[in-house]
Amino acid sequence: MFCEVVVDVESKQVNQTYDYLIPKHLEGVLEVGYRVMVPFGARKHVMAFVVKIKEESSFQGTIRPISEVLDIDKPLNQEFIDLAYQMAEYNFSFYATCLQTMIPAALKMQYKKLIYCEDKSCLSAELRSLFTGNYAPYDKALNLHMKELKSLIYQSKVSIETKTNDNAKIKTEKMIVLSDFSINPNSKRGLELINYLQEANGTIKKSVLVNDMGFSPSVITNLQKKGIINVCDEEVYRKISIPKEENKKVTLNSEQKKVIESVLAKKSISHTFVLKGVTGSGKTEVYMELIEDVVNRGKTAILLVPEISLTPQMTSRFQARFNDNIAVMHSGLSMLQKYDEWRKVLRGDAKIVVGARSAIFAPFNNLGIIIIDEAHEESYIQDNNPRYDAVWVAKRRSKTHSCPLILGSATPKVTEYYEAINDNQTLLVMKERANKLKLPASKIISLVDELKGGNRSCFSKELQSEIIKNLKNNNQTILFLNRRGFASFVQCRSCGEAINCPHCDTTLTFHKIGNLLKCHHCGYKINMISECPNCKSPYIKEVGNGTQKIELEVNKLFPNARVIRMDNDTMRTAMDYENAFLKFKKKEADILIGTQMIAKGLDFEDVTLVGVLNADLAMKYPVYDSNEICYNLIEQVSGRAGRGNKEGKVIIQTYSPNHYSIVAAANHDYEYFYNREIASRLVAKNPPFSSLVEISISSKDRYISYKEANIVRRYLDNNNEKSSVYGPAEATIFKENDYYTYVISIKINDLKIEKALSFIVNQYQDNIKCHVRIKRM
Ligand code: ADP
Ligand code: ZN
Ligand code: ZN
Repeated sequence: MFCEVVVDVESKQVNQTYDYLIPKHLEGVLEVGYRVMVPFGARKHVMAFVVKIKEESSFQGTIRPISEVLDIDKPLNQEFIDLAYQMAEYNFSFYATCLQTMIPAALKMQYKKLIYCEDKSCLSAELRSLFTGNYAPYDKALNLHMKELKSLIYQSKVSIETKTNDNAKIKTEKMIVLSDFSINPNSKRGLELINYLQEANGTIKKSVLVNDMGFSPSVITNLQKKGIINVCDEEVYRKISIPKEENKKVTLNSEQKKVIESVLAKKSISHTFVLKGVTGSGKTEVYMELIEDVVNRGKTAILLVPEISLTPQMTSRFQARFNDNIAVMHSGLSMLQKYDEWRKVLRGDAKIVVGARSAIFAPFNNLGIIIIDEAHEESYIQDNNPRYDAVWVAKRRSKTHSCPLILGSATPKVTEYYEAINDNQTLLVMKERANKLKLPASKIISLVDELKGGNRSCFSKELQSEIIKNLKNNNQTILFLNRRGFASFVQCRSCGEAINCPHCDTTLTFHKIGNLLKCHHCGYKINMISECPNCKSPYIKEVGNGTQKIELEVNKLFPNARVIRMDNDTMRTAMDYENAFLKFKKKEADILIGTQMIAKGLDFEDVTLVGVLNADLAMKYPVYDSNEICYNLIEQVSGRAGRGNKEGKVIIQTYSPNHYSIVAAANHDYEYFYNREIASRLVAKNPPFSSLVEISISSKDRYISYKEANIVRRYLDNNNEKSSVYGPAEATIFKENDYYTYVISIKINDLKIEKALSFIVNQYQDNIKCHVRIKRM
């Protein structure tokens, strides 16, 4: 017997399979979905996934046998093998990377594993001979006696024990903390480390990274130098106490009943529902009702929620209703806890998974429903390594399992809403808030008018007087700066020169802490300069409305207010967030200033005023859906006001007071926003009217990247029927980390060009002088 495998090689990724011989003793036990070790080229041991078992091989040369099996529980099955192929093709990535992303991180680590057996009389003599006392080495036992072991484990006669090197007594540990993931690490291991960190809520023990996951200390030092991560001491064991909640079943209102009926009418077919329901309209109650029905029918369910809403309160609400039937998957869990939750699913001990993005890969084999809450959230898209969209995956899984998919949101994604009102998907609406709270009133203030009236501060007159009123009434205020991080750059007042990074085409950002100038792209940093490098003038000034600057201005305008600032600079660990939130919740501060990170999920009863300081900033990103992002953000921050019994007010400051994204958000009018947006996308042929792809071509040699970009363009032109191709153009940041990048964008409308794209990816795979990356937007 032979098997086809996908090998996981770091340097040279290959999108093809290789044939290997299955040793006699593994015939019949080794199945599609197992991980094995194989000799590959000159290398003796390379990890690989078995993707096909076959009687014969058409390969002409010598076929080598696989050398080892790695798992006893099959981590993947045919569904995931097929899914990985589709994912790799759709996102121009590699099969092995896609397969890797579907299994828990713990499986990829080198834990020392042992087989444990209490009563060895049930073992065959050969297997017994491997034991010393009650333990036998896992690798050897598994590879020589896989068949026997599998049945013994099934009968619970032996078990597998994992030994970790954790020193449980130690109170503090070196923690690696993600501080700025917008900086490019420029190494594969660096990227992997960042991905792990993001998955783990931004912090992982250094010992785990080094001892268990095999990251070399130099990778860590490197990222630290670039300013991507920090190393610090932190208390390790914090007990999270989950508040026990009563299972209070509500009587569903007529809107909720109607939604449930519509879904149940299509409960056994693959169909996507867009559930548009304002916050508090009782969507979660609907989800629970639908899941209960699925579980009663002996099937399983996945509920995805944004990481930030996976609070203990949220999970305990589900646990109260479904008891032990549920597995929770989020980044707050340790690697091994995640592995346990995943195994619960694999072995059929859990019927429901509630989790963040990657929980979409929960290994269920009889899904009855998939629900994605806040489905418009960007966090459902993993940006790279590999890039994938959990909603896209959900649609594939819904097809495979013939089950409904619910996309819940107060502000559905324009592309999904379009499908829904054009009858490819079904639109379900919930207009009434179950708790009868009113949405806050919003007011738009023109910053142009403020400037004309001589007001040069970041605060309009009205916002100032509202803040004063709020302080007087002992209510709280949130000030939101629509900007990632806090970019304030430094400029010479004499000659106008801005201080740039020597490796990138960007201005350096001023950091008050440490008095530094940092590049947010490559990590370059220098001490704040005292004179202009161009004209030697000493008049250097920082420009831009960073959160730091806002804080200073708040201190000046409202000297008695107690202020908390939340941005990448002040919030370095998960603990920092928690402390800041807690402090604000306990009313130990009057004003909370922050970036994107405060837009979501916060629920403070005494916040009655939200100020959006410059609403336009979100629209400045060069992406086709920047208006949608802007609208969503303002709608979301607005929702932070008036959550309790007091009425809320929102003030939106903007340079474009008539822009539909801003007007729509101020009026909480989704339809108005949608109609304007879809009209503009039709004109521009943007999604849903095409599929958008961006090719970036970069090289350290400016001429090479220019030349290759033009070769790519010509190749595309020769393989194009109905698509529009733009570029090559210089990237937004043309020079980054010493690499020059050109961008070609395509609005795809035919299949031929899709094929051409896959070809291009493979062509440039081994080119060390020029990197080509294709990203589906
Ligand atoms: P959403 O998920 O849309 O934000 P939830 O399901 O969390 O809304 O409901 C908001 C609040 O209203 C919750 O406290 C919930 O218990 C309550 N609620 C939901 N449906 C009903 C109902 N039919 N009757 C009474 N209270 C309800
Ligand atoms: Zn100067
Ligand atoms: Zn730089």
